[in-house]
Amino acid sequence: MLVDPFGREVTYVRISVTDRCDFRCVYCMAEHMTFLPKRELLTLEELLRLSDAFIDLGVRKIRLTGGEPLVRRNIIWLIEQLGERVKDGRLEELTITTNGSQLAQMAERIAAAGVRRINVSLDTLDPEKFRRITRWGDFAKVMSGIEAAKRAGLAIKINMVALKGVNDDEFDRMIAWCGAEGFDLCLIEVMPMGEIEGDRTDQYLPLSLVRRRLEERWTLTDIPYRTGGPARYVRVEETGGRLGFITPLSHNFCESCNRVRVTCTGTMYMCLGQEDRAELREALRASEGDELVKQAILEGISRKPKGHDFVIDRRRNRPAVRRHMSVTGG
Ligand code: SAM
Ligand code: SF4
Repeated sequence: MLVDPFGREVTYVRISVTDRCDFRCVYCMAEHMTFLPKRELLTLEELLRLSDAFIDLGVRKIRLTGGEPLVRRNIIWLIEQLGERVKDGRLEELTITTNGSQLAQMAERIAAAGVRRINVSLDTLDPEKFRRITRWGDFAKVMSGIEAAKRAGLAIKINMVALKGVNDDEFDRMIAWCGAEGFDLCLIEVMPMGEIEGDRTDQYLPLSLVRRRLEERWTLTDIPYRTGGPARYVRVEETGGRLGFITPLSHNFCESCNRVRVTCTGTMYMCLGQEDRAELREALRASEGDELVKQAILEGISRKPKGHDFVIDRRRNRPAVRRHMSVTGG
C-alpha cells in the first residue's frame, strides 16, 4: 500500500527510539553531544500508535534502533507490544540494532517478546581498541551481552564498520570468530553523517578493496540471501558463515530500497542520505485516531527520492548529511 514514485514498495521501517547512547563511537558521535529535550520525544505509546499506522499501511518489518534503543526507559514495554504483532502475524519481523551493552539483563525478555534476530555492533575484538572506538564502552559487558543473547536463542548478526588503520587488520579474526559462534557478520562502509571530531577521509575504506583482500585468504561464494536490507552476502566456505557487505559509497544500493526511517521525534526521513522529510508527530498528536498520521505517511512516501548522493571527499570536508546517524538510526 506504500508505493513510492519509483514503484518501490515500502515494507520496512526503522524507528529510532532515542537519540541518546551510553557509547560515543568516534565515527558516529562527537564526545560532547547535545541531546534532545525529553518532551520532544515521542512517548512509547505514540511510538506504538505510529508503528500500528505503518503496519496498517502494509509495513511487514520494523527495526528499533537509535541512539542505543535499549537504554530508553521501559523500552521493553514497546518491544513486548510489537512482539504481540509478530505473534499474531500482523508483523513479519521485529528486530533491534544494539550496541549490546544492556543485553546481559534484557536478552531473555527480548527473545520471549517475539524477537528472533538482533544486530549487535562490534567493530573489534580487542578490548583496548574497543574502548578507543566507542570512547565509553565496556567490552566485557558487551561480550556477556552477546553470550546472553545467544543463550536466549536470538540469531545474531555482528555489524562491523570498516575503519581504515583502526580495525582493518581484524577482518580475518572477526570472520573466524563469527564463524565459530554461528553469527552472521556484516561489514559496513563508514558514511559521511554528522559532525564528528576528525576527518572522515581518514576513516573511509572501500569494501570492494576489503573483499579483494579477503579473497586472498577465504573462499567467498556469492549467495542470494537477503534480509530486506541493502547487504549483499557471500558464504565463507571455510567457516560456513555468512558475510555481508553494506557499500553505500562504493556501490549505491538505492534501486531496491524498501525502507523509511523515523526519528525519535517522529520525523520520517524517506532516504538516509537526503534531508527531505515528513513530520509525523503533529499528525499523531492532533487526534486520537490514526487517519491524519496515515495521510502524513502517505504524503511523505509520495516524495521518496530516488537515491542518496553520499561522497567522502577531501575538498569538501563536511558531512553529506548534517544529522548524525544516531538521530536517524543506523
Ligand atoms: N546504538 C546501536 C548500535 O550501535 O548498534 C544502534 C544505532 S547505531 C547508529 C546503528 C549502526 O550504525 C551501528 O552499527 C553503527 O556502527 C552504524 N554507524 C553509526 N555511524 C555510522 C557512520 N557514520 N557510517 C556507517 N555506519 C555508522
Ligand atoms: Fe551509540 Fe550506536 Fe552511535 Fe556507537 S554507533 S555511538 S553505540 S548509537
